[in-house]
Amino acid sequence: MNRPILIAILLCIAWKGFAQVNPGYWQQRIYCQMEVDMDHVRHQYQGTQRLVYQNQSPDTLRELYYHLYPNAFQKGSEMDAWSNRLPDPDSRIVDNLLNLQPEDEGFLHVRSLTMNGLPASFQENRTILEVILPEPIPPGRSAVLDMAFIGQVPIQTRRSGRDNAEGVDYSMCQWYPKICNYDRKGWHANPYVQREFYGVWGDYDVTIHIDTSFILGGSGYLQNPQEVGCGYEDPTRPLVNPTGSRKSWHFLAPNVHDFMWAADRDYTHIRRTMQNGVEAHFLYIRTEENAAAWEALPTYMDSAFLYIDQVFGPYPYRQYSFIQGGDGGMEYAMGTLITGNRGLRSLVGVSVHELMHSWYQMILGTNESLFAWMDEGFTSYASSIVKNHLFPGNSPLFAHQGSYQGYFGLVRSGLEEPLTTHADHFLSNFSYGNSAYSKGAVFLHQLSYIIGQEALDRTLLDYYHKWQFKHPTVEDFIRIAEHQSDQELDWYQEYWVNTTRSIDYGVDTAFLSGDGLHILLRQVGHMPMPVDLAIQQDDQVLRITIPLDIQRGQKTMDKYFTTDRIADDWPWTYDRYELVLPGQWENGEILISIDPTQRMADVNRDNNLYTIQITP
Ligand SMILES: [Zn+2]
Repeated sequence: MNRPILIAILLCIAWKGFAQVNPGYWQQRIYCQMEVDMDHVRHQYQGTQRLVYQNQSPDTLRELYYHLYPNAFQKGSEMDAWSNRLPDPDSRIVDNLLNLQPEDEGFLHVRSLTMNGLPASFQENRTILEVILPEPIPPGRSAVLDMAFIGQVPIQTRRSGRDNAEGVDYSMCQWYPKICNYDRKGWHANPYVQREFYGVWGDYDVTIHIDTSFILGGSGYLQNPQEVGCGYEDPTRPLVNPTGSRKSWHFLAPNVHDFMWAADRDYTHIRRTMQNGVEAHFLYIRTEENAAAWEALPTYMDSAFLYIDQVFGPYPYRQYSFIQGGDGGMEYAMGTLITGNRGLRSLVGVSVHELMHSWYQMILGTNESLFAWMDEGFTSYASSIVKNHLFPGNSPLFAHQGSYQGYFGLVRSGLEEPLTTHADHFLSNFSYGNSAYSKGAVFLHQLSYIIGQEALDRTLLDYYHKWQFKHPTVEDFIRIAEHQSDQELDWYQEYWVNTTRSIDYGVDTAFLSGDGLHILLRQVGHMPMPVDLAIQQDDQVLRITIPLDIQRGQKTMDKYFTTDRIADDWPWTYDRYELVLPGQWENGEILISIDPTQRMADVNRDNNLYTIQITP
C-alpha cells in the first residue's frame, strides 16, 4: 500500500482546480504522518515523522527548514533575549523563562533524518533545523522525509507547555518538527521569538500513545473512538477495551497547516452537534465556579457558527474543539486552547475570537509574520460583529469602537510602526498589539466607509471563497476589494498598511452667498481619503460623498450612508476643497459634519463639525 503516492495524485488533481482561480499562484503541499510516545513522568515524548513533501514551486529545492519551537523555552533563548530588549516585555515570557530549571525547559531535537532513504545532513540552529538535502527536489516532484525526534514539554511559559496556570496537564501546540513554508516570497525560516503562524497545507495523520488516565482533544478527527472512549465513542456500539496501561489516540486532520493536541486527566467532555452540522467538543476542568459558563457555552457557539457561516463563509470542517489549556486564547487547526476559569461573557468572547481565527488564519492562511494584522485584525473585526450579534447592544456600525480607540492611542503614543513590520520585529508589544489587532480591524471597517458596507461584505465572502486553504497576501485581498467595488484601492494599502500617516479632515468654514452654500474643507492629515459629508437643517439631511480622484470611482451603495449627491473628485494633491451647494436655505441652523458614521479613523474629530446660522 502506498498511501502517500495516492494522496499525491489526488492532490495534483485538486491543485489543477484552483490554479485556474488564481492563475500563476502556487503553494507547497505535505502529507505528514507522526507517531508519538508520551512519557508523562518525565514529560518527554519520542516520535517519528514521515513527511511527503511536494514541491509545487517553480524552483529546485536543495535545502529545507523545520521549526523546532520548544527550543525557545530555555533560558537565554532568542525568545528570552528579544523579550528582555522590549520596553514592555510579555511577563508570561520573561518571568517564566528566568526561573526554568533544566527539567522544566522545553527542547525538541531531531535524531535522524533521511530523504528518500538517503541520509540528509542537518544542523540545529536554536529553533530552526537547517537541512541540506542529499539530492535536490526539482519542481513538480515529491520527496519522502523520515525523521525521529525527541522532545521535552516545558513548564508552560507561552502558549504550549505542561501544567498551565489552571492546572491543565498538557497544552501541546508548536510541539513537533514543523516544516517551514516556502512560498512565492521564498523560505520563511523564522526563529520562534513570539509569533509563529505560518505552515504548509497538508493532511496530518497523528497517533499519540499515552497513559490511559489522560483525555485528549485536538486537531483532527479521532479514528478510533470506540477504543479511547472518554465521551468520543458512539454509545450505540460496544467499547473496545485497550490492553495495558496505554491508549493510542489516532487523529486525521485533512487540509490543515498545523496540528495541536491537549491532554488532561480531569477533563469534562461535552459533545454537541451544532445546527450547521459541525460536531463541537468542549473539554474543560470543571469547577463549581466555571461550570455554569462552560455549560452555557455550547448554545452560544451554536448561534455563533450559524451567524458566521452566513456572514463570513461556511466552516469547512466537520469538527471544532474548545479546549481549556494554553495561557489565554490561541487558535489552532480545528480547535482552540483557551483559559477556562472565566465568567460567561469572557468565555464566550475568547471562544468567538479564537473560532473566528478558523477563518482568518486557519482557512485563509496568511503569513502571520508578515501580515499579522490580516490575521488578528480581520479576526477582531469579525469577532466584534459576532459578539454584537450574540449580545445585542449598539448598532453593528459602532461595534468597533474599541479598535478605533486602540488605534488612536497608538497614534498618540508616537510608537506606531507600519503594518508591514515583521510581527516579531516590532519595537514594543504595545505597538505590535495595537497595530495588528486595532489598526488591522480598523482597516476593514474603514474600508466599508470607502467602498460601502455591502461591497465589503461581498469582498470578505469572495476572499473566503477564492483564497481558502491558500496563503493570501494583502495584494490578493485588495484586488478582490477592487473587483467588488469597481474602484482602485492600491492607495489605501499604500497609506494604511505601508506607512504610519494618519487622517485628519476638517471644515474650515462655511457661508451663504448669492450662488448658494459654500463649504470649505481642508485635508490636515497626511493620508488622503474620500469624504462623506452630512448637511443637516432641522430634520432634513443632505448626504454628499466627495470621491478621491485616485479611487477612480466611488461607493455606489452603503447601508450606513445613503449618498444623495456625488460631488466632484478631490484630487489628492490639493489640501483644500470648496463645495458649493446652490439653492435656497431656510433660516436657522445648518450643521455640517464630516463622516457622521465615524468609520474614517480621523485622529482629530474636533474639526469635523461646523455650524452656521442663517438669519433673515
Ligand atoms: Zn487572535
